[in-house]
Amino acid sequence: MKLYVVGIGPGDSAQMTPQALQIIRQSDVVVGYTKYIEIIAHLIEEKTIRTSEMKNEKERCQIAIMDALKGKNVVVVSSGDAGIYGMAGLIYELAEECDEIEVCVVPGITAASSAAAVLGAPLMNDFAVISLSDLLTDWSVIEKRLRLAAEADFVIVLYNPSSIKRFDYLQKACDIVGAYRPDETPCGYVKNIAREGQESCVCTLASLRNTKVNMFTTVVIGNSTTRVIRDKLVTPRGYRYV
Ligand code: SAH
Repeated sequence: MKLYVVGIGPGDSAQMTPQALQIIRQSDVVVGYTKYIEIIAHLIEEKTIRTSEMKNEKERCQIAIMDALKGKNVVVVSSGDAGIYGMAGLIYELAEECDEIEVCVVPGITAASSAAAVLGAPLMNDFAVISLSDLLTDWSVIEKRLRLAAEADFVIVLYNPSSIKRFDYLQKACDIVGAYRPDETPCGYVKNIAREGQESCVCTLASLRNTKVNMFTTVVIGNSTTRVIRDKLVTPRGYRYV
């Protein structure tokens, strides 16, 4: 039997792949965090829905595995791409001993691509994606990754840039990157991508440092070549094409 882990994209169903849509439509049971279930509510009116709050990820995966073992057609949904800070890895780990279950991961548009599209074209060259959440990763490791990515001149995409408890993490990240990049480095952020209340801003590293963002925001910090072209953030592909 198959257990699907499906990335539903950033929000609007226009940004969901036809494959994800088809698999959700064919399912009996949909498992996911309440907010993501709300986003796809119109697609799953006749399904059995199993939701839980954000931190019960393990419980959600276990429910999905149990239902799949009972022979139900189960889909676990994650926002963006299920394999990028999503549920795919945990499902593989928890189903390790269940030979009957074949895990199928269905990709989706991750926040880095959807944010980049809103901001312009900042990810045209090498970039690093770093989550500022220290729930599952020590802050010392996050700090090291920020420092080395900054030193290596990667464009940096930040996921989980802030939360109520971690209100100053974006500021701390900007300070670390700021040791390697000038204050006027072009940056940007997008809140609620493809959802109600989408907002975006192109700014500088110095102003980003003083910006309060919430956890539904994706941040892009440009590198030494990133420029602002007609109010959009653009990193040239390479010198060869200039
Ligand atoms: N699996 C998701 C990422 C989950 S981690 C993906 O591939 O996109 C959660 C973080 O992703 C958020 O804190 C935010 O930084 C980013 N994110 C996800 N969806 C977003 C959206 N619609 N708008 C802005 N940021 C989003």
